[in-house]
Amino acid sequence: MKLGNRLEEYVGSKEPQTRSGMLLLESAKRLRISPEDVAEVIKPYTVYIQRLPVPIMGKVVNLISGIVLHNRARGPYKGGIRIAKDVDIWETTELARLMTLKTALADIGLGGGKSGISVDLRALYAAMVKEKRFGADFREFSRIAKADIIIEFADHFRWLFSQRHYIPAPDMGSGEEEMVRIYNATLDPASVTGKPDGVEGWLPGRTEATGYGVWYAAIKDMERRGRAPEQCTAAIQGFGKVGMYAAQFLYQSGVRVIGITDLTGGVYDPEGLDITDLTKHYASKGAFKGYKTRNLTHQRLFRLKADYLIPAATGHVIDSKNAGEIGAKVIVEGANMPVTYDAMQILIQKGVEIIPDVYANAGGVIASNIEYRQAVGGDTFTREMTFSHIRERFDSMYEAMLPLIKKGRTMSEAGIDTALLRVHRTMLERGQLSR
Ligand code: NAD
Repeated sequence: MKLGNRLEEYVGSKEPQTRSGMLLLESAKRLRISPEDVAEVIKPYTVYIQRLPVPIMGKVVNLISGIVLHNRARGPYKGGIRIAKDVDIWETTELARLMTLKTALADIGLGGGKSGISVDLRALYAAMVKEKRFGADFREFSRIAKADIIIEFADHFRWLFSQRHYIPAPDMGSGEEEMVRIYNATLDPASVTGKPDGVEGWLPGRTEATGYGVWYAAIKDMERRGRAPEQCTAAIQGFGKVGMYAAQFLYQSGVRVIGITDLTGGVYDPEGLDITDLTKHYASKGAFKGYKTRNLTHQRLFRLKADYLIPAATGHVIDSKNAGEIGAKVIVEGANMPVTYDAMQILIQKGVEIIPDVYANAGGVIASNIEYRQAVGGDTFTREMTFSHIRERFDSMYEAMLPLIKKGRTMSEAGIDTALLRVHRTMLERGQLSR
């Protein structure tokens, strides 16, 4: 069999134009890195596509999962496990590439990887209820089904996790409950991060870390503009691990969070939502539904005249169709790639500043790095030490980008340039590229 050198030949489809790919090509031109070299940085090293026959409630459900090991020039492949219905291998590749850039910008000894498990849990739930295999609510179903799925996934990839070659973590659709299943399969605290409190090698503050970093990125921006948190408003899309904690930290520091939406609906209060009360409601109902304030759609959330818009749900939600309608002055990318490449150009024209994902949501991987180092024999951290370390890393990421920002680069360009230079240099040093 003839082996080609393009992933497209094996996957049977062409990689769509991706934001990270476009930004890297532009960055390489600015940095005078050759097209051949940047192509090597853009491409992933290894892609696994694995069928997962998962027994759920007495029925075998056939799923597809993928792991993309993008780049480990600077350390073990690192990146979360996404469980969602619209996962595809190119999206996983894009997310893995972003991890390579994020870990390089944060200057931590990790590389970039990502996993995706494609499953439509809502449709599966409806089918199970129809077949009378399950009778309780969706939240309960989702918890049980995800446990079955991740046990199967961990079983297939135990060998990979046990080598600490790729170290998974939570992403959209997965959390501590899923990470502990990976630990159960490997019994190695360094094989996975995002483990629940009390499980060998856990890190206090890891659960809140990404939201904490998003909050800190916003607070630093307020400081730069000479504005007190009490004078600022925020609108958030997503009330999961990232959005909920970002909302809590913003609320605690005095920012008025005026609108939040997610898959279960949305809430709006121009005076500012009581996030403590809202969190309690959401925890008991699993949805915004029934909360006392006005309802809000995603479309209206994006149009709100808030100082900060924080997309913290899924990718590509702000595209060329709705970018012109964005009401906020600053977008803090809590999610990965919530703004498409085309939308970025429209927003720049409109004067909306973007605090990019590669920086804004790096708090999670910064904390994961401590969790991993702690598990391989490093110091034990308290929650406050974790938070203080995140703040330090954000300060040094910003300092690294500042000279480029002063030269007129956007923050996104400054972040990608800094990351690409570091990855490229290490690949040269390791003999992975020709000098
Ligand atoms: P999560 O599963 O905990 O929560 C996701 C939230 O987004 C939920 O409120 C859900 O209702 C909402 N959502 C999902 N799909 C949506 C859609 N199509 N439209 C509107 N809302 C939708 O996930 P998370 O861990 O909070 O991750 C959110 C984002 O942050 C993702 O883009 C993820 O890649 C990114 N991120 C997460 C981490 C982490 O540590 N968890 C780190 C860095 C980046």
